[in-house]
Amino acid sequence: MGVHVETVVSDQEVFNDVKIWNNISGDLKKALYNCRALDGMTPFQEYCNALSMVVPGALCLYLCLWPSSGLWWTWRMSIIAAAVLLHLPFSMAFHLLLAQRKLQHSSNNTARRLDQTFIHVTCMASAAALSTSEVYCSLCILLNMYFISRLWAFRDAGVTERMANIGMAVLLYWVPPLLRGDFQNTACGVGYFVLGALCMHFRLGGWGHSLLHILSGGLCYHILAAGAF
Ligand SMILES: [Zn+2]
Repeated sequence: MGVHVETVVSDQEVFNDVKIWNNISGDLKKALYNCRALDGMTPFQEYCNALSMVVPGALCLYLCLWPSSGLWWTWRMSIIAAAVLLHLPFSMAFHLLLAQRKLQHSSNNTARRLDQTFIHVTCMASAAALSTSEVYCSLCILLNMYFISRLWAFRDAGVTERMANIGMAVLLYWVPPLLRGDFQNTACGVGYFVLGALCMHFRLGGWGHSLLHILSGGLCYHILAAGAF
């Protein structure tokens, strides 16, 4: 009997939801639907975002499988490649869910937090691979762990803080190569990152995010090249 009552209540709730949905204005319906789109990107642009994330991962696999094609493979590069490949499914999942409009809110969701968590894991791996100082490496790992905690906190980081944290995490792992005198990889790596960030910031008709992903392939190449020692 209890089950019967629950079913009746649940049907009533669904009925109420439909009634509410039918009564709200077209503008509000549009606003609720727009909440599911990140920066106004279309589903097709989100599929392109998911696909373009393959670029850095494919580059790592290519250089690992055919080392003679460019760089001599080292254990440092293995750490970087493993982290880049680990991030790939989380990033693709986030963009595919956005493409299918399956997330109720485009940024306040677990998929976005997981994507950015693994960006920080990639930054930790890059710091560990490019630094020869245990103290500096530990500092970078601790800082990235703090940045990850800010993604999951009850009062979590807003978009400006999140972007600043990612920017800081990237710049930090370039300090050791810079101090070693590896100016070429540092300048090119930071250059690709800044260019990608500008593309995302200015959106470029919704294609800026895909361009950021493609340019992160260039960043990835120079992190690997900086780790070839
Ligand atoms: Zn992305």
